[in-house]
Amino acid sequence: MSYSEDRATWFEGQGHWQHVPASDWQDWAWQLKSRITTVEQLEQYLTLTADEKAGCAFANQKLALAITPYFFNLIDRNDPDCPIRKQLIPRAGEMVVSEGEMDDSLNEDGHSPVPGLVHRYPDRVLFLVTDRCAAYCRYCTRSRLVSNAQDYNFHPEHERALRYIDSHPEVRDVLLSGGDPLLLSDKKLEHLLSRLRAIPHVEFIRIGSRIPVFLPQRITPALTEIFKKYGPIWMSIHVNHPKECTAELKAACERLAFAGVPLGNQSVLLRGVNDDAEVMKALVHRLLRMRVRPYYLYQMDLITGGSHFKVDVRNGLEIIRALRGHTTGYAVPQYVIDAPGGGGKVPVNPDYVESITDEAVTFRNYEGDRFVYPLKAAPKPDPAAPSPLAPGVQSIVVH
Ligand code: SF4
Repeated sequence: MSYSEDRATWFEGQGHWQHVPASDWQDWAWQLKSRITTVEQLEQYLTLTADEKAGCAFANQKLALAITPYFFNLIDRNDPDCPIRKQLIPRAGEMVVSEGEMDDSLNEDGHSPVPGLVHRYPDRVLFLVTDRCAAYCRYCTRSRLVSNAQDYNFHPEHERALRYIDSHPEVRDVLLSGGDPLLLSDKKLEHLLSRLRAIPHVEFIRIGSRIPVFLPQRITPALTEIFKKYGPIWMSIHVNHPKECTAELKAACERLAFAGVPLGNQSVLLRGVNDDAEVMKALVHRLLRMRVRPYYLYQMDLITGGSHFKVDVRNGLEIIRALRGHTTGYAVPQYVIDAPGGGGKVPVNPDYVESITDEAVTFRNYEGDRFVYPLKAAPKPDPAAPSPLAPGVQSIVVH
């Protein structure tokens, strides 16, 4: 895959929906009501491949098909390999169950003391407040429950979850997720945030949402007022490809940032979507320009029917190596694997350190040059004496 982009351009406009009044287009309820949810609707705009047709026929048993008109415009209808298309339009690969795949690969259900609340780490909880999203990502970790295509019948119990958090003083951090929390009405969201803010030991509230990406119209002034009122509310958005960084998303991120919401991004490493250093570099640069700090790059979880998206971890490490030192440090996300079975997130990093002894650490920089950092104070070398450096070592760095 080779990738180049016009860095001066941000996609904008109504695309296929020119005939729709701007007031409808800007209305998040209209976007939701007008989602593409059937094969017939898809075929009005593009020619599905056999692979996609098979995937669509299976989708109602795995994860519903839904795409907002706004996000659908980003699909290149002439390119079956379009990275946006791959994320949203089902493929036959979803029917293939591979070794090691699980419906609940992170064992969230096993760590749920209350329906909809996952308490895996001692000081923080994941609060799954809904099973609905604006659009459905074909690689979703929570495919088992979001959209209810698998008859999971997820029923989050908000009051019980709030009582659990209230009665566990060790919980200082609450992450609202789902499904997508920003699909809740302003009233419900305000209720949840106000209740959480009233719990003295809850110090940190964050929201994981792909709504700014799928439905930037949802980031209304009324919503940002709620974030101001109960802030600081941190938010992780979810962008996988630079094409998703549109003028509308940029404006939505600005509305959030100006309301005091610090923004991070979580990407999932996906085959044929962003498993390429140039794509990832373009993405992280766009994110910074939108006031979003690239936060995590996830190795995809081992979800049932996900192997067609799976990327070799060595490729992921090479992407990080291509970023680190080659671009702004703020632009480099932490690459992580969420340990299968519920072991938590584990960072995986390219290996820069060659050796550590009591005397020194030896490492290579982003250009492959080798350096030594001495760990013990030593007398200043006599310039007349023979060099103490090992063969091939260019210098000693001392701060
Ligand atoms: S928006 Fe998030 S929860 Fe919803 S389908 Fe996509 S990855 Fe899953």
